Amino acid sequence: MRNFAYLRAGSVEEAREAAALPAVMLLAGGTTLLDLAKCGVVEPEKVVDISYLSGLDTIRVGPEGAFIGALAKMSNVADHSGIRAQFPAISEALWQAASAQIRNMATIGGNLMQRTRCAYFRDPATFPACNKRAPGSGCSAIGGVSRNHAVLGTSEACIATYPGDLATALVAFDAVVHAGDRRIAVDDFFLLPGTTPDREHALAAGEMITAITIPASAAARRSTYLKVRDRQSYEFAAAGAAVGIELEPDGTTIRDVRVALGGVATKPWRAWAVEEALKGKALEDEAVKRASLLAMEGAVAHGGNRYKIDLAPRVVARAILNLGVSA
Ligand code: FAD
Ligand code: SF4
Repeated sequence: MRNFAYLRAGSVEEAREAAALPAVMLLAGGTTLLDLAKCGVVEPEKVVDISYLSGLDTIRVGPEGAFIGALAKMSNVADHSGIRAQFPAISEALWQAASAQIRNMATIGGNLMQRTRCAYFRDPATFPACNKRAPGSGCSAIGGVSRNHAVLGTSEACIATYPGDLATALVAFDAVVHAGDRRIAVDDFFLLPGTTPDREHALAAGEMITAITIPASAAARRSTYLKVRDRQSYEFAAAGAAVGIELEPDGTTIRDVRVALGGVATKPWRAWAVEEALKGKALEDEAVKRASLLAMEGAVAHGGNRYKIDLAPRVVARAILNLGVSA
Protein backbone atom coordinates (compact mmCIF):
# COMPACT_ATOMS: atom_id res chain seq x y z
CA MET A 1 0.00 0.00 0.00
CA ARG A 2 1.26 3.44 -0.91
CA ASN A 3 1.95 5.81 2.02
CA PHE A 4 -0.41 8.77 2.33
CA ALA A 5 -0.60 11.99 4.31
CA TYR A 6 -3.38 12.24 6.92
CA LEU A 7 -5.45 15.32 7.69
CA ARG A 8 -8.15 15.44 10.35
CA ALA A 9 -10.80 17.84 8.98
CA GLY A 10 -11.97 20.51 11.43
CA SER A 11 -15.06 21.47 9.42
CA VAL A 12 -17.13 20.39 6.43
CA GLU A 13 -15.73 23.35 4.52
CA GLU A 14 -12.15 22.29 5.24
CA ALA A 15 -12.92 18.72 4.16
CA ARG A 16 -14.51 19.89 0.91
CA GLU A 17 -11.64 22.22 0.07
CA ALA A 18 -9.07 19.50 0.71
CA ALA A 19 -11.00 16.85 -1.23
CA ALA A 20 -11.35 19.11 -4.28
CA LEU A 21 -7.69 18.44 -5.08
CA PRO A 22 -6.70 15.37 -7.13
CA ALA A 23 -5.47 12.27 -5.23
CA VAL A 24 -7.18 13.37 -2.00
CA MET A 25 -9.87 11.11 -0.52
CA LEU A 26 -12.32 11.39 2.35
CA LEU A 27 -12.15 8.86 5.18
CA ALA A 28 -15.26 8.12 7.27
CA GLY A 29 -15.43 4.64 8.88
CA GLY A 30 -12.56 3.45 6.69
CA THR A 31 -14.02 -0.03 6.12
CA THR A 32 -13.99 0.34 2.33
CA LEU A 33 -11.35 2.96 1.72
CA LEU A 34 -8.53 1.11 3.50
CA ASP A 35 -9.49 -2.18 1.82
CA LEU A 36 -9.23 -0.55 -1.61
CA ALA A 37 -5.95 1.16 -0.73
CA LYS A 38 -4.48 -2.17 0.42
CA CYS A 39 -5.36 -3.92 -2.83
CA GLY A 40 -4.03 -1.01 -4.88
CA VAL A 41 -7.33 0.06 -6.43
CA VAL A 42 -7.05 3.56 -4.94
CA GLU A 43 -3.76 5.28 -4.18
CA PRO A 44 -4.56 8.52 -2.34
CA GLU A 45 -1.72 10.93 -1.63
CA LYS A 46 -3.75 12.39 1.21
CA VAL A 47 -6.64 11.09 3.26
CA VAL A 48 -8.99 13.60 4.92
CA ASP A 49 -10.60 12.16 8.03
CA ILE A 50 -14.17 13.45 8.41
CA SER A 51 -15.13 11.02 11.18
CA TYR A 52 -14.51 13.60 13.95
CA LEU A 53 -16.79 16.27 12.47
CA SER A 54 -19.58 17.05 14.91
CA GLY A 55 -23.27 17.31 14.04
CA LEU A 56 -23.18 14.97 11.05
CA ASP A 57 -24.42 11.87 12.88
CA THR A 58 -27.95 13.08 13.64
CA ILE A 59 -30.85 10.66 13.09
CA ARG A 60 -34.27 12.29 13.23
CA VAL A 61 -37.62 10.76 12.30
CA GLY A 62 -40.86 12.78 12.29
CA PRO A 63 -44.20 12.98 10.48
CA GLU A 64 -42.48 14.32 7.33
CA GLY A 65 -39.89 11.55 7.14
CA ALA A 66 -36.31 10.79 8.19
CA PHE A 67 -33.16 12.89 8.26
CA ILE A 68 -29.97 10.87 8.57
CA GLY A 69 -26.57 12.57 8.88
CA ALA A 70 -23.80 11.21 6.64
CA LEU A 71 -21.71 10.14 9.64
CA ALA A 72 -24.48 8.19 11.37
CA LYS A 73 -23.27 4.61 11.90
CA MET A 74 -25.05 1.81 10.05
CA SER A 75 -25.86 0.03 13.33
CA ASN A 76 -27.34 3.16 14.94
CA VAL A 77 -29.61 3.80 11.96
CA ALA A 78 -30.68 0.14 11.80
CA ASP A 79 -31.57 0.18 15.49
CA HIS A 80 -33.28 3.60 15.61
CA SER A 81 -36.85 3.16 16.86
CA GLY A 82 -38.25 5.72 14.37
CA ILE A 83 -36.49 4.07 11.43
CA ARG A 84 -37.72 0.63 12.50
CA ALA A 85 -41.28 1.90 12.79
CA GLN A 86 -41.50 4.20 9.74
CA PHE A 87 -38.98 2.55 7.38
CA PRO A 88 -38.61 -1.15 8.26
CA ALA A 89 -37.02 -1.91 4.87
CA ILE A 90 -34.19 0.54 5.63
CA SER A 91 -33.55 -1.02 9.03
CA GLU A 92 -33.67 -4.56 7.62
CA ALA A 93 -31.36 -3.71 4.71
CA LEU A 94 -28.79 -2.37 7.15
CA TRP A 95 -29.09 -5.30 9.57
CA GLN A 96 -28.44 -7.72 6.70
CA ALA A 97 -25.38 -5.83 5.45
CA ALA A 98 -21.75 -6.72 6.31
CA SER A 99 -20.97 -7.78 9.91
CA ALA A 100 -21.69 -6.34 13.36
CA GLN A 101 -18.13 -4.97 13.61
CA ILE A 102 -18.37 -3.25 10.22
CA ARG A 103 -21.85 -1.85 10.93
CA ASN A 104 -20.52 -0.31 14.15
CA MET A 105 -17.69 1.46 12.27
CA ALA A 106 -19.21 2.23 8.89
CA THR A 107 -21.19 5.37 8.09
CA ILE A 108 -24.22 6.00 5.89
CA GLY A 109 -22.27 8.30 3.54
CA GLY A 110 -19.46 5.77 3.17
CA ASN A 111 -21.98 2.99 2.62
CA LEU A 112 -23.55 4.72 -0.38
CA MET A 113 -20.10 5.39 -1.82
CA GLN A 114 -18.86 1.78 -1.57
CA ARG A 115 -17.39 0.34 -4.77
CA THR A 116 -18.23 -2.81 -6.68
CA ARG A 117 -17.06 -6.22 -5.44
CA CYS A 118 -16.10 -7.26 -9.01
CA ALA A 119 -13.08 -9.48 -8.32
CA TYR A 120 -11.26 -8.20 -11.42
CA PHE A 121 -11.69 -4.58 -10.30
CA ARG A 122 -10.20 -5.41 -6.92
CA ASP A 123 -7.11 -7.21 -8.23
CA PRO A 124 -5.17 -4.75 -10.41
CA ALA A 125 -1.92 -6.73 -10.19
CA THR A 126 -3.43 -9.82 -11.84
CA PHE A 127 -6.09 -8.15 -14.04
CA PRO A 128 -4.92 -4.84 -15.51
CA ALA A 129 -7.94 -4.69 -17.86
CA CYS A 130 -10.77 -2.91 -16.07
CA ASN A 131 -12.55 0.07 -17.59
CA LYS A 132 -13.81 1.20 -14.21
CA ARG A 133 -10.34 1.31 -12.67
CA ALA A 134 -8.33 2.14 -15.80
CA PRO A 135 -10.61 3.75 -18.44
CA GLY A 136 -10.13 2.27 -21.90
CA SER A 137 -8.25 -0.82 -20.68
CA GLY A 138 -11.08 -3.30 -21.36
CA CYS A 139 -13.21 -5.50 -19.12
CA SER A 140 -11.84 -8.74 -17.69
CA ALA A 141 -15.28 -9.84 -16.44
CA ILE A 142 -16.95 -10.00 -19.86
CA GLY A 143 -15.98 -13.48 -20.99
CA GLY A 144 -14.56 -14.20 -17.52
CA VAL A 145 -16.16 -15.49 -14.32
CA SER A 146 -19.36 -13.46 -14.08
CA ARG A 147 -21.48 -15.21 -11.46
CA ASN A 148 -21.77 -12.08 -9.29
CA HIS A 149 -22.10 -9.58 -12.10
CA ALA A 150 -25.08 -7.50 -13.15
CA VAL A 151 -27.83 -8.41 -15.60
CA LEU A 152 -29.49 -4.97 -15.62
CA GLY A 153 -28.01 -1.59 -16.58
CA THR A 154 -24.88 -3.12 -18.06
CA SER A 155 -22.89 -1.78 -21.01
CA GLU A 156 -20.20 -3.12 -23.31
CA ALA A 157 -17.67 -1.37 -21.08
CA CYS A 158 -18.70 -2.75 -17.66
CA ILE A 159 -21.06 -5.28 -16.06
CA ALA A 160 -20.12 -4.68 -12.41
CA THR A 161 -22.87 -4.93 -9.79
CA TYR A 162 -23.51 -2.14 -7.31
CA PRO A 163 -23.21 -4.13 -4.09
CA GLY A 164 -24.91 -2.07 -1.34
CA ASP A 165 -28.14 -3.02 0.42
CA LEU A 166 -29.08 0.34 1.92
CA ALA A 167 -29.15 2.19 -1.40
CA THR A 168 -31.62 -0.34 -2.78
CA ALA A 169 -34.05 0.49 0.01
CA LEU A 170 -33.39 4.23 -0.35
CA VAL A 171 -34.19 4.17 -4.07
CA ALA A 172 -37.52 2.41 -3.42
CA PHE A 173 -38.67 5.19 -1.09
CA ASP A 174 -37.49 8.25 -3.05
CA ALA A 175 -34.67 9.26 -0.70
CA VAL A 176 -32.66 12.39 -1.42
CA VAL A 177 -28.91 12.81 -1.01
CA HIS A 178 -27.77 16.11 0.48
CA ALA A 179 -24.37 17.40 -0.59
CA GLY A 180 -24.26 20.63 1.38
CA ASP A 181 -27.00 22.75 -0.20
CA ARG A 182 -27.36 20.53 -3.27
CA ARG A 183 -30.16 17.93 -3.33
CA ILE A 184 -29.93 14.86 -5.57
CA ALA A 185 -32.65 12.20 -5.84
CA VAL A 186 -30.93 8.95 -4.92
CA ASP A 187 -32.06 7.41 -8.23
CA ASP A 188 -30.09 10.14 -10.05
CA PHE A 189 -27.15 9.95 -7.64
CA PHE A 190 -25.93 6.61 -9.03
CA LEU A 191 -24.87 6.60 -12.69
CA LEU A 192 -25.16 3.85 -15.27
CA PRO A 193 -21.76 2.68 -16.55
CA GLY A 194 -22.34 3.48 -20.26
CA THR A 195 -18.98 4.26 -21.83
CA THR A 196 -17.63 5.82 -18.61
CA PRO A 197 -17.91 3.21 -15.84
CA ASP A 198 -15.27 5.09 -13.85
CA ARG A 199 -17.95 7.76 -13.17
CA GLU A 200 -20.20 6.15 -10.57
CA HIS A 201 -22.06 8.99 -8.86
CA ALA A 202 -23.24 12.55 -9.26
CA LEU A 203 -20.83 14.18 -6.79
CA ALA A 204 -18.33 16.64 -8.23
CA ALA A 205 -14.78 17.03 -6.89
CA GLY A 206 -14.92 18.78 -3.53
CA GLU A 207 -18.51 17.72 -2.79
CA MET A 208 -19.38 15.37 0.04
CA ILE A 209 -22.56 13.74 1.25
CA THR A 210 -23.76 15.55 4.35
CA ALA A 211 -27.13 13.83 4.90
CA ILE A 212 -29.91 11.73 3.43
CA THR A 213 -33.62 12.43 3.75
CA ILE A 214 -36.43 9.95 3.15
CA PRO A 215 -40.04 11.17 2.79
CA ALA A 216 -42.62 9.43 4.96
CA SER A 217 -45.16 7.27 3.12
CA ALA A 218 -47.64 4.54 3.88
CA ALA A 219 -45.69 2.20 1.57
CA ALA A 220 -42.48 2.84 3.53
CA ARG A 221 -44.27 2.08 6.80
CA ARG A 222 -45.34 -1.32 5.45
CA SER A 223 -42.08 -2.37 3.84
CA THR A 224 -39.43 -5.05 3.97
CA TYR A 225 -36.03 -5.95 2.53
CA LEU A 226 -35.44 -9.52 1.39
CA LYS A 227 -31.86 -10.54 0.66
CA VAL A 228 -30.89 -13.86 -0.92
CA ARG A 229 -27.20 -14.74 -0.77
CA ASP A 230 -24.79 -17.64 -0.87
CA ARG A 231 -24.60 -17.78 2.94
CA GLN A 232 -26.92 -16.33 5.53
CA SER A 233 -24.59 -13.70 6.98
CA TYR A 234 -21.58 -11.55 6.03
CA GLU A 235 -22.29 -11.87 2.32
CA PHE A 236 -23.40 -9.59 -0.48
CA ALA A 237 -26.76 -10.06 -2.20
CA ALA A 238 -27.13 -12.49 -5.09
CA ALA A 239 -30.49 -10.74 -5.39
CA GLY A 240 -32.25 -8.40 -2.98
CA ALA A 241 -35.59 -6.61 -3.04
CA ALA A 242 -36.79 -3.61 -1.09
CA VAL A 243 -40.58 -3.47 -1.34
CA GLY A 244 -43.40 -1.52 0.29
CA ILE A 245 -47.17 -1.56 -0.17
CA GLU A 246 -50.16 0.54 0.73
CA LEU A 247 -53.57 -1.10 0.40
CA GLU A 248 -56.96 0.53 -0.18
CA PRO A 249 -59.41 0.40 2.76
CA ASP A 250 -60.85 -2.84 1.30
CA GLY A 251 -57.65 -4.50 2.52
CA THR A 252 -56.79 -6.21 -0.78
CA THR A 253 -56.44 -3.62 -3.58
CA ILE A 254 -52.94 -2.17 -3.98
CA ARG A 255 -53.02 1.63 -3.84
CA ASP A 256 -49.23 2.15 -3.84
CA VAL A 257 -46.33 -0.25 -4.24
CA ARG A 258 -42.57 0.30 -4.30
CA VAL A 259 -40.05 -2.18 -5.66
CA ALA A 260 -36.28 -1.83 -5.97
CA LEU A 261 -33.68 -4.49 -6.70
CA GLY A 262 -30.15 -4.97 -5.42
CA GLY A 263 -27.39 -7.40 -6.36
CA VAL A 264 -28.52 -7.66 -9.99
CA ALA A 265 -27.87 -4.23 -11.52
CA THR A 266 -25.07 -1.75 -12.05
CA LYS A 267 -26.89 0.72 -9.78
CA PRO A 268 -29.70 0.40 -7.22
CA TRP A 269 -32.59 -0.48 -9.52
CA ARG A 270 -36.15 0.79 -9.24
CA ALA A 271 -38.53 -1.71 -10.87
CA TRP A 272 -41.05 0.81 -12.22
CA ALA A 273 -42.74 -1.73 -14.53
CA VAL A 274 -43.59 -4.02 -11.60
CA GLU A 275 -45.07 -1.10 -9.68
CA GLU A 276 -47.20 0.04 -12.63
CA ALA A 277 -48.47 -3.49 -13.23
CA LEU A 278 -49.58 -3.91 -9.61
CA LYS A 279 -51.19 -0.57 -8.80
CA GLY A 280 -54.96 -0.97 -8.58
CA LYS A 281 -54.75 -4.78 -8.66
CA ALA A 282 -55.66 -7.18 -5.90
CA LEU A 283 -52.80 -8.42 -3.74
CA GLU A 284 -52.98 -12.02 -4.95
CA ASP A 285 -50.37 -14.70 -5.43
CA GLU A 286 -50.65 -15.11 -9.22
CA ALA A 287 -50.91 -11.39 -10.03
CA VAL A 288 -47.84 -10.61 -7.90
CA LYS A 289 -45.78 -13.43 -9.43
CA ARG A 290 -46.73 -12.38 -12.96
CA ALA A 291 -45.95 -8.69 -12.34
CA SER A 292 -42.62 -9.54 -10.67
CA LEU A 293 -41.35 -11.06 -13.93
CA LEU A 294 -41.36 -7.49 -15.34
CA ALA A 295 -38.47 -6.68 -13.00
CA MET A 296 -36.17 -8.38 -15.50
CA GLU A 297 -37.27 -6.36 -18.56
CA GLY A 298 -34.11 -5.63 -20.56
CA ALA A 299 -31.94 -8.05 -18.56
CA VAL A 300 -28.85 -9.45 -20.29
CA ALA A 301 -26.99 -12.48 -18.96
CA HIS A 302 -23.24 -13.01 -19.26
CA GLY A 303 -22.82 -16.74 -18.77
CA GLY A 304 -22.52 -17.47 -15.08
CA ASN A 305 -24.97 -14.82 -13.90
CA ARG A 306 -27.93 -16.18 -15.88
CA TYR A 307 -29.47 -17.59 -12.66
CA LYS A 308 -30.15 -14.02 -11.45
CA ILE A 309 -32.78 -13.56 -14.17
CA ASP A 310 -34.77 -16.45 -12.67
CA LEU A 311 -33.97 -15.61 -9.06
CA ALA A 312 -34.71 -11.88 -8.85
CA PRO A 313 -38.44 -11.98 -9.79
CA ARG A 314 -38.96 -14.72 -7.20
CA VAL A 315 -37.29 -12.57 -4.55
CA VAL A 316 -39.53 -9.63 -5.50
CA ALA A 317 -42.69 -11.75 -5.43
CA ARG A 318 -41.82 -13.39 -2.12
CA ALA A 319 -41.04 -10.01 -0.52
CA ILE A 320 -44.37 -8.50 -1.66
CA LEU A 321 -46.37 -11.55 -0.64
CA ASN A 322 -44.64 -11.59 2.77
CA LEU A 323 -45.99 -8.08 3.32
CA GLY A 324 -49.46 -9.21 2.36
CA VAL A 325 -49.33 -12.01 4.89
CA SER A 326 -48.17 -9.67 7.66
CA ALA A 327 -51.20 -7.37 7.15
P1 FAD B 1 -15.15 4.62 4.10
O1 FAD B 1 -14.40 3.37 3.87
O2 FAD B 1 -14.62 5.59 5.08
O3 FAD B 1 -15.36 5.38 2.72
C1 FAD B 1 -15.85 4.69 1.58
C2 FAD B 1 -15.80 5.62 0.38
O4 FAD B 1 -16.73 6.67 0.55
C3 FAD B 1 -14.45 6.30 0.19
O5 FAD B 1 -14.24 6.45 -1.18
C4 FAD B 1 -14.64 7.67 0.85
O6 FAD B 1 -13.78 8.64 0.28
C5 FAD B 1 -16.10 7.94 0.54
N1 FAD B 1 -16.85 8.71 1.55
C6 FAD B 1 -17.00 8.39 2.85
N2 FAD B 1 -17.85 9.27 3.42
C7 FAD B 1 -18.22 10.14 2.45
C8 FAD B 1 -19.10 11.27 2.43
N3 FAD B 1 -19.77 11.68 3.49
N4 FAD B 1 -19.26 11.93 1.24
C9 FAD B 1 -18.59 11.53 0.13
N5 FAD B 1 -17.74 10.48 0.10
C10 FAD B 1 -17.58 9.79 1.25
N6 FAD B 1 -22.22 -3.39 2.39
C11 FAD B 1 -23.49 -3.76 2.15
O7 FAD B 1 -24.30 -2.89 1.82
N7 FAD B 1 -23.86 -5.08 2.24
C12 FAD B 1 -23.01 -6.06 2.62
O8 FAD B 1 -23.40 -7.22 2.71
C13 FAD B 1 -21.66 -5.70 2.89
N8 FAD B 1 -20.73 -6.64 3.27
C14 FAD B 1 -19.44 -6.25 3.50
C15 FAD B 1 -18.50 -7.22 3.85
C16 FAD B 1 -17.17 -6.84 4.05
C17 FAD B 1 -16.16 -7.88 4.41
C18 FAD B 1 -16.80 -5.47 3.96
C19 FAD B 1 -15.39 -5.03 4.21
C20 FAD B 1 -17.73 -4.53 3.63
C21 FAD B 1 -19.06 -4.90 3.38
N9 FAD B 1 -20.01 -3.96 3.00
C22 FAD B 1 -21.31 -4.33 2.76
C23 FAD B 1 -19.62 -2.59 2.72
C24 FAD B 1 -19.69 -1.74 3.96
O9 FAD B 1 -21.03 -1.51 4.27
C25 FAD B 1 -18.92 -0.46 3.62
O10 FAD B 1 -17.56 -0.80 3.71
C26 FAD B 1 -19.20 0.69 4.56
O11 FAD B 1 -20.56 1.02 4.62
C27 FAD B 1 -18.41 1.91 4.13
O12 FAD B 1 -18.60 2.94 5.07
P2 FAD B 1 -17.35 3.67 5.73
O13 FAD B 1 -17.89 4.77 6.58
O14 FAD B 1 -16.44 2.71 6.40
O15 FAD B 1 -16.69 4.27 4.41
FE1 SF4 C 1 -13.86 -3.60 -14.38
FE2 SF4 C 1 -16.50 -3.36 -14.65
FE3 SF4 C 1 -15.23 -5.17 -16.08
FE4 SF4 C 1 -15.39 -5.51 -13.43
S1 SF4 C 1 -17.11 -5.52 -14.86
S2 SF4 C 1 -13.58 -5.81 -14.73
S3 SF4 C 1 -15.35 -3.36 -12.72
S4 SF4 C 1 -14.95 -2.94 -16.20
